[in-house]
Amino acid sequence: MKKIFSTENAPPSGGDYIKDGLIFCGKCNTPKQCRTEIDGEEIFIPVWCECSEHAYAEEKQRNKDIEHAFKAAALRRLSMMGDKLSGCTFSGADKGGDNARSFKICERYVEKFPQMLKDNRGLLLFGSVGTGKTFAAACIANALLEQNYSVVMTSLVTLIDGTDEIIRRMNEIDLLILDDLGAERSTDYGFERIYAVCDARYRSNKPVIYTSNLPLDTFKHAEDIRCARIYDRVLERCYPVEFRGVSHRKREARRGFEEMNKLLEV
Ligand SMILES: [Zn+2]
Repeated sequence: MKKIFSTENAPPSGGDYIKDGLIFCGKCNTPKQCRTEIDGEEIFIPVWCECSEHAYAEEKQRNKDIEHAFKAAALRRLSMMGDKLSGCTFSGADKGGDNARSFKICERYVEKFPQMLKDNRGLLLFGSVGTGKTFAAACIANALLEQNYSVVMTSLVTLIDGTDEIIRRMNEIDLLILDDLGAERSTDYGFERIYAVCDARYRSNKPVIYTSNLPLDTFKHAEDIRCARIYDRVLERCYPVEFRGVSHRKREARRGFEEMNKLLEV
C-alpha cells in the first residue's frame, strides 16, 4: 500500500516523465501517482516512488540512530564510570590468555542479558589482584550501555558512604556493578550498608555483578556472621567466574625490567 502524502498533483520535476498517463520518477522509474475514481470521476493521487520511500526510511533510521546515541551518552554520564573504565571493550581484551573462558562467559552474559535481567542473575568475578576482573566488568558495562541499558559501576566503598537516596536510585537501574567486594572497612556500619545495598537489589529483583579479590571459599565459608549474610545473598544470585594468571601489573613490571635489562646490561 502506497502512502498518500497530498491530494495535490505533483508536477513532473527533474528527470520525471509521463508514462501511461502517470508521472514516473526519473531516478527509480516507479510511479509518483496512482489513478483512482471518486464519484465517477478519475483523479490522480500522488504516491511515494521507491526512491523517496527509501529516503524516508533512511531518514527515520538516522533519527533513530541519533536518538540511540544520545541515550547511550546520557546513560554513560550516569554510569559513574571514569574515562579509564569507559574505554574497556571486549575487542580490546586478551582472549587467548589464562582468562579466555572467563571473558567468553562475560561476553555471553551480555548476549543473554534480557534473560539475566528477567531472572535477576548476576556474576561474581573473583580472583587475585590485577587479573582483569574489573576490566571484564567494565567491558560488560560498556557493551550494555551501547545497547541503551542503564548500568552503574562503582565501588562498594563509594556506596557505603552514599546517601539512602543514592542507594534507592541504584535500584532503578538495569545492572549494578560493584567493584571490590570484601575490600571495605570491617565495621558494623560498613557491613550494614553493604547488606542494605545487596538486599535492596535483591528485593527489587535486579541483577548485580560483583568483583572481588577474595577466593570463592571465603564466600562459601564465611565465619563472620555479618559477612555470611551478605555472601549468601551474593552466591544465591551470582554465577562465580574465576580470573587467574599472572597479574597484568606484575607482567608490566617484568616487561619493564627486561627492557631496562637489555638497555643497560651489555
Ligand atoms: Zn524515485
